[in-house]
Amino acid sequence: MHLFKGKTALITGASRGIGRELALAFARQGAAVAICARSQEGLDKVQKEIEAAGSHCFASVCDVRQEKQVKRFVSQVEDKFGAVSILINNAGIYVCQPVLKHSTEIWQDVMDTNLNSSFFFSRQVLPSMTEAGWGRIINISSVSGKKAESYGAAYSASKFAMIGLTQALALEVAKQGITVNAICPGWVGTEMAHNQLVDDKWCELNQINPHESHDIHRLSVPQERFVEGQEVAELACYLASDQAKSITGQAINICGGLSLC
Ligand code: NAP
Repeated sequence: MHLFKGKTALITGASRGIGRELALAFARQGAAVAICARSQEGLDKVQKEIEAAGSHCFASVCDVRQEKQVKRFVSQVEDKFGAVSILINNAGIYVCQPVLKHSTEIWQDVMDTNLNSSFFFSRQVLPSMTEAGWGRIINISSVSGKKAESYGAAYSASKFAMIGLTQALALEVAKQGITVNAICPGWVGTEMAHNQLVDDKWCELNQINPHESHDIHRLSVPQERFVEGQEVAELACYLASDQAKSITGQAINICGGLSLC
């Protein structure tokens, strides 16, 4: 099945983790895939995986915090594959710190990476989506974008705001064949989650033994397991498909029941 044959999907932060799974899934469904991150090494690996499976991939370094780099990247993608019809704002960082210890620079960095980047990318691709009368924007938020967690104020604020942006944009483009949705994962077994779980400072603040942290958090999920990146990618493929054309402005949890706790 090739849900996205002839379409171009742009995925940010796709050198590893959830972004890599998104890139592989959209490529498997026939899309030409454009991926970015700050470092080339991981991008090269993902590009090779996609090309080895017979799909098209354009990979380039782009710091999503920098609007000029975003503009240049989108224009390179358009030159290579034509207009972007599916945008997935996935790049993100997590910072653990009590509010009083959040420096202005850290606050700004989290907002620039997790939130402002989605605004920059959406603004770049919306004119061509509007012209085509078809488009999909998917923002990777978090369950922390609906229920805050302690010591992650900047992260939670950025992910809450991402859902606000999702809703506002969905309303603006509702009549133009464009849907805008957010996905809110719980724990997903990636480098970001692992680094957080074993982070000494985070464990100390949460009064958890770092050696037990992984198991404690896995068992805190009603399904007693972490979500897999591939599951997030499959949900994104559904939201980008024509079957999901009536779903817009939503923020959908994929968390093994964690949001109920
Ligand atoms: P990850 O393994 O740390 O991967 C993050 C990706 O974003 C990497 O490719 C990274 O590449 C890229 N990135 C970071 N800053 C960037 C920047 N300024 N410009 C361009 N690329 C940048 O994280 P993940 O777990 O896959 O998370 C992906 C998304 O899911 C994030 O938005 C995260 O908040 C969200 N999420 C994750 C979980 C979880 O449990 N893992 C749960 C809920 C939500 P470089 O470092 O090379 O730039």
